[in-house]
Parts: sequence; structure tokens; C-alpha cells
Amino acid sequence: MAQKGREIVKMNVDELINLLNKALADEWLAYYQYWIGAKVVKGPMKDAVISELTLHATEELAHAELLSTRIIQLGGIPVLSPAEWMKITNCGYDIPSDPWVEEILKQNIKGEQCAIKTYNSLLDITRTGDPVSYNVILSILSDEVEHEEDLDALREDLELMLARRQ
Ligand code: FE
Ligand code: FE
Ligand code: MG
Repeated sequence: MAQKGREIVKMNVDELINLLNKALADEWLAYYQYWIGAKVVKGPMKDAVISELTLHATEELAHAELLSTRIIQLGGIPVLSPAEWMKITNCGYDIPSDPWVEEILKQNIKGEQCAIKTYNSLLDITRTGDPVSYNVILSILSDEVEHEEDLDALREDLELMLARRQ
């Protein structure tokens, strides 16, 4: 454990670790939702959507890496069991049982909007008490904002294309 690193945190560290673990559960679920979505998606513009979903999956995995590193620095234990993910998640998991491309995009946009809300509130919580976590969260939040925009742009392209064909 980074002793001095933990000492400088001016907030309840156990509470912070708990919140970071909830976000870590979200990231694993988001990773799988993107990864499996890219496998099952069907419909127009499928190739562009698969590329974006696959890239986002790797970026969610990188977020899980950042969060678990920070949890360990703080002396915590990153969530050890996948069974815990569904219990502690903020944003949940939408089963992509309908593979239609618009539906998959809709589910993932909803997930990103929840992630943005979650990280924005974590920024407020850590702003003065833990600048190191703040920095990690800010960098993740910037990616989530980009993710929402990427998916929304695809959804818009798809909508325009489908409208033209009628
Ligand atoms: Fe993420
Ligand atoms: Fe994301
Ligand atoms: Mg992207």
C-alpha cells in the first residue's frame, strides 16, 4: 500500500474505495455489453457499428485497469468476483436480446449516459479530497463523453439512411 499516498487523501478512504469498486463493476459490465453486442449485432451499417463497439470495449477495459490500480494504491481490494458486479453496479447491464443495430446502439447510449452521470458525481466527491482519484475519474469521464457522442453519431447516420430509403 502507498502509505504516504493514502495519508494525503482528505476524505473517507473506505467510502471512496467502495465507490471506485462500484464504478469498476460498471466498467466490466460495460466491457462485456460492448464486446458481446459487437458479436451479435445485425442490420445496416453493421461493420461501422462493430468497429466502434469493439474499440469501446477495449476502452472500458482500460478504465477497469485504471480503477483497480487506484483501488490498490488506496489499500483496497478490487471486486474479486463477477457475481458481485450485478450487486454493486450503478448502471446495470442491458441484455442485447434484440440484435437490431438501433436497439444495440440505444442500449449502449443509455449505458454511457449513466456512466457520465456516475463519473460526474465522483468528480464532485473527490474534487478537494483526493486529487489523484479526481484525475483518474476526469480522464475516464472524458472517454465516456466521447463514447456517447460516437454512438449518437452512428445512430443519427442510421436514422438518416433509413429515412431516405422510405
Ligand atoms: Fe468506461
Ligand atoms: Fe464508455
Ligand atoms: Mg469511439
